[in-house]
Amino acid sequence: MAEQIGFVGLGIMGKPMARNLMAAGYALTVYDIVGEPVEELATEGAAAASSPRGAADGNAKTITMLPDSADSERAILGPDGVLEGAAPGSVIIDMSSIAPSMSQKIGAACSDKGVEFLDAPVSGGEPGAIAGTLAIMVGGKQSVFDACAPLLQVVGGNVVLTGDVGAGNITKLANQIIVAANIEALSEALVLAQKAGVDPERVFNAIRGGLAGSAVMEAKGPMMLNRNFQAGFRIRLHQKDLRNVLQTAGELSVPLPVTALVQQMLGSLVNDGEQESDHAAILHFVEKLAGVEVQRGG
Ligand code: NAD
Repeated sequence: MAEQIGFVGLGIMGKPMARNLMAAGYALTVYDIVGEPVEELATEGAAAASSPRGAADGNAKTITMLPDSADSERAILGPDGVLEGAAPGSVIIDMSSIAPSMSQKIGAACSDKGVEFLDAPVSGGEPGAIAGTLAIMVGGKQSVFDACAPLLQVVGGNVVLTGDVGAGNITKLANQIIVAANIEALSEALVLAQKAGVDPERVFNAIRGGLAGSAVMEAKGPMMLNRNFQAGFRIRLHQKDLRNVLQTAGELSVPLPVTALVQQMLGSLVNDGEQESDHAAILHFVEKLAGVEVQRGG
């Protein structure tokens, strides 16, 4: 009989991840506060729950994929939450990108009830979620990781245990520093080329194979050149990640000047109504400073 998995949070990332699990033969019980994706997956064979508790009820493993710390706290620890439905010995896997301190709080509450917990945020964006090739960075016990690895490998390409509960989200914050700074640097580079009258597309093609080339450049360069800023990864979510980075860094007395600067840029873009745009729209902030718009052909 197919293993039954609970899945809570069916947004840009969660829905394709849930689909990949069903395609791999897992039977899913799904829940989201928005009805539409629940109904959509129900037509594809999932069981629909009416609360996070209902999604976890009777299942040995439940995955959550939610926006931020407060959402994970509410959906897992709140009334009618996942933890109320989870039996002792079962595992809750929170794949949301949240503050590491919140992962530890949730992990401790699970432990008090004899429930195992992993924080397992991801990188790779919507394309990686659809392809089932996400990078997954996991915090928790080795034995729990080993038990969940086959499940995680369905949605991920590279699944790595980086430490105890909270370490998954520390790793994700490290990832988000690099991604944010890269997108900002790419924006500055293309704006400079544009204002100098050199075709930004040719610049992109000339440098992508050199030391400046990166996965970020390959993903975001074409979006900038096509002036396609449809999310992908929303500005408001990257702003949330950098807020969690700076909060965690503050607790550890680690100054992160470049991250703090990019966080200010994201705040300005939110004020300009860009919160739902892809984070490639950091380009708009740099363009505004220079008074140019990056265009193919220069
Ligand atoms: P999203 O906003 O598209 O989806 C979040 C979903 O959670 C929504 O469907 C929302 O209705 C649901 N939700 C919110 N609160 C809930 C609750 N209490 N109970 C049940 N459902 C609830 O976000 P997303 O892009 O899918 O991102 C999810 C997480 O993955 C975030 O932490 C994000 O930072 C991270 N992430 C996103 C990407 C990306 O490219 N989109 C990449 C890597 C990591």
